[in-house]
Amino acid sequence: MPDMPPDMPPDMPPISTHESPNGSFPSASAATDAESQSARLVHADRVHHWHGFTQMADYESLVIERAEGNWLIDSASRRLLDGVSSLWCNVHGHHRPEIDRAIIEQLGRVAHVTSIGMGCDTTACLAERLAGLTPGDLDHVFFSSDGSSAVEAAIKMAIQYWHSVARQSGRPELATKTRYLAFGSAYHGDTTGAVSLGDITHFHRLFRPILFEPLRGPCPDSYRLPAGVEPADLLEHHAQQYESLISRHAGELAAVVLEPLIQAAAGMILHPPGLLARIRQACDRHEVLLIADEVATGFGRTGRLFACQHEGVVPDILCLGKGLTGGYLPMAATVARRHLFDAFLSPRADNRQFFHGHTFGGNPLAAAAALASIELFETDRVWECLPGKIQRLAAGLRPLGDVPIVGDVRQLGMMVGIELVADKSTREPFPSEWEIGNRVCELAMQDGVWIRPLGDVVVLMPPLSITLKELDLLTRSVRTAIDRVAASLAPGA
Ligand code: PLP
Repeated sequence: MPDMPPDMPPDMPPISTHESPNGSFPSASAATDAESQSARLVHADRVHHWHGFTQMADYESLVIERAEGNWLIDSASRRLLDGVSSLWCNVHGHHRPEIDRAIIEQLGRVAHVTSIGMGCDTTACLAERLAGLTPGDLDHVFFSSDGSSAVEAAIKMAIQYWHSVARQSGRPELATKTRYLAFGSAYHGDTTGAVSLGDITHFHRLFRPILFEPLRGPCPDSYRLPAGVEPADLLEHHAQQYESLISRHAGELAAVVLEPLIQAAAGMILHPPGLLARIRQACDRHEVLLIADEVATGFGRTGRLFACQHEGVVPDILCLGKGLTGGYLPMAATVARRHLFDAFLSPRADNRQFFHGHTFGGNPLAAAAALASIELFETDRVWECLPGKIQRLAAGLRPLGDVPIVGDVRQLGMMVGIELVADKSTREPFPSEWEIGNRVCELAMQDGVWIRPLGDVVVLMPPLSITLKELDLLTRSVRTAIDRVAASLAPGA
């Protein structure tokens, strides 16, 4: 039996470490007392589980015990619609028998095989499947465990690539290509390399002393435009800036690293359409690699399997995570084009193998989940159903245009950002301490909908499996919550 936590209320039964067959945690004394069971779990979660990006001083525990389809069920048996796909990763709903079965079948054979120097049948099949699904000659899949690691692998791959090419081609100047060009307000994860590429001040500023400095381009935000730039000129404005940065710094640039089309963590910021293709062309002209971070956008979120496909772009390296396993298990992939992979091939004595590898990269349980999730795109006829769902989502959001505190409603496929502002005409934000985004999400939660904001941008990113009825419930709840917050802020309220 574990030690009693020092601040545990004296009348609270201790937490059992023995799981029952149905996955709950009964203690001998209170197995039937659902309320005290729930209270103990909430306590354990609040006291011992240190949650990321969460102020623990006022964290109100939400302990999920089960999930069914697009619904989460907490320790008090409350049902919550999963309006952000369990942080942007669930694709086909929770507890899908097809994915569960695939994992169980794999578990009956082997749970883990390293991918360093050996492989596994399931992981090999997944690599082959991904090579077939990803655009162009993105054929070589390097596995890791989370999106940040996929980005770390990509940036190291790019550096080592130029080093190899410099040696192979007798062009030593290429070995000096060791910098990256990253976007303003970028987010690529929380490991040190990924944070270096990032530019979300309140997440990243503190860590600057241990980070490398990328070259930083502007954030091509389609809502807050640069002074003097008209919406019709936005593409040209940003394309020229990026083209100029790439051409001026080509000699030192290993790669441009970007989130294609939409910067999710920055607040669902939409780029002007066409920018990605222009940057691809500039990279080609100046011998600079293009790394597309599709950790958030991959696997159908934008309405296509990958966001790059909207503009017919094949990046040199594609980073995938989150939805890769249907949101089931931690797995990420860094997919490289053939010419990149080939640059690492040499006689063993030359030591040109990729100097990077993760213990759990390519884990077969996760690979089994990923293969089953990919199958479900066919079985569930996702590509047939998705356009109707995207339209229904848009229709449900339309009335928000009239709400005085709604500055912008932006949507790409199933990714939505609703930006709440103090002044619609000037786009002036609310004081951050008012926590307007949080207030909306708390009200939605009371209505049985779980969403999580990014500052004052209310984010919706439901699973692709969400039904039309559930979509209506999601948008109705969010509208009601926003209306209530708007009413509470109205003069004289
Ligand atoms: N890249 C992008 C674009 C992301 O949105 C995220 C996470 O939200 C990451 C990378 C990091 O992924 P992970 O949290 O799995 O490390």
